[in-house]
Amino acid sequence: MNKINLAATLRQPAELVAQGLASAADLPALAQVAARYAVAVTPDIAALIDVNDPDDPIARQFIPNAEELVTQAIENADPIGDHAHSPVAGIVHRYPDRVLFKLVHVCAVYCRFCFRREMVGPGKETALSEAAYRGALDYIRAHSEIWEVILTGGDPLMLSPRRLAEIMADIAAVDHVKIIRIHTRVPVADPARVTDEMIAALKVTGATIWVALHANHARELTAKARAACAGLVDAGIPMVSQSVLLRGVNDNAEALEALMRAFVECRIKPYYLHHGDLAPGTAHLRTALEHGQELMQSLRGRVSGLCQPEYVLDIPGGHGKAPVGPSYLSQVKSPEGELRSETRYRVVDYCGDVHLYPPAP
Ligand code: SF4
Repeated sequence: MNKINLAATLRQPAELVAQGLASAADLPALAQVAARYAVAVTPDIAALIDVNDPDDPIARQFIPNAEELVTQAIENADPIGDHAHSPVAGIVHRYPDRVLFKLVHVCAVYCRFCFRREMVGPGKETALSEAAYRGALDYIRAHSEIWEVILTGGDPLMLSPRRLAEIMADIAAVDHVKIIRIHTRVPVADPARVTDEMIAALKVTGATIWVALHANHARELTAKARAACAGLVDAGIPMVSQSVLLRGVNDNAEALEALMRAFVECRIKPYYLHHGDLAPGTAHLRTALEHGQELMQSLRGRVSGLCQPEYVLDIPGGHGKAPVGPSYLSQVKSPEGELRSETRYRVVDYCGDVHLYPPAP
C-alpha cells in the first residue's frame, strides 16, 4: 500500500491530482463536481487510501468522481425531506418525541454520497446565527414532547469545545429533554479533535449523552480512531454506529462483517445500516434494496446479535425511516389464499432453512 502523509486537509481537485488521488485527465470534470459539492480529505483519511488500488473503498467515499455530475430524475436535493419538517431555522421535527438540531453546515470530510450534500460545505448554508440558535432553543423549550435532541449538521464536533459546552448546557437545562445524541464522523476523519477538553464539553448534567459514529469500512477504525472512541466511552458516553450501504465500499458480506465486528470491539453498538438516499449524483454508489436484504441475511448467519444493525430506508419526502428487512417470518396460505391454522407461520433460520411454527392456541 502506497501511504500518503499530509500536513493539511485536501480541498481542491488539483491537490488530489498532485497526491496521486485523482488523475490529471479527470481534472476538468472534478473541478465541476467540486464547484457543486464540497470536497475535503483529511490527512487521517488520505493515509488510509491505497493510491495503487483503483477500487479503494476509502477513496470511493471521499474522492470526487465525474459520475457525480449525472443527476437522475428520481434524485432530490432534499432526499429525506428535512425542509418539509423544519418549523424554525436549525430544527427538523419529523417524529413527535425528537428533533434534529442542525448547528453547523461544515464537516471534517465531505462524503460523496452525503444526503445533505446540497446543504453542507463552505459556501452553502452557514452556521446558525445567535438569533436563530436562540429561536431553535425556544422551540425545544416550547414543545414538551421533545425527549431527545439530535445534534447533526454538518458535524457538531467541528465546533470548539467551548461552544459545544455552552450548547450542551443550554439543551440539558430544558427539563423535558432527557437525551442529547451527537452524530459525528470526526472520531474517524480527524480523531485528534476528540481531546479531553472536547470530551469534557460533551458531559453535562441534566441529560444523558449518546454519540453516534458514522463509519462505513473497517479500515476507518484505525488505532487513532479507536482511541478517540475509547476516550468517549471511558468517559461514560455510550456509542452507537451508523453506516451507509455503498456500492464498492461495503456491499459484500465480508466488508460488512468486518465493519460490524470493529464497531463492537470499540464498544460501539451497531445501530443503523442506511440504504443509500436519493441524493443528487450518487446513483453509482447506491445498491439494490434486495441486495441489502441479502447482505443483512448473510450477516445474521455470520455474526452475533450484538453485531446486527437495522437496515433502514429513509422514505423520500420526509416520511421517516422504515426497517426494510429482510423479514424472517411469513404466514402460510393454502393454494386458495386461506391461512392454514395448523401451521400458521414459516420462519427462516440463520442458515436460510425454513421451519413451520404454530399459531397461538
Ligand atoms: S460527515 Fe455527514 S453531513 Fe458531513 S458530508 Fe459526510 S455524511 Fe454528509
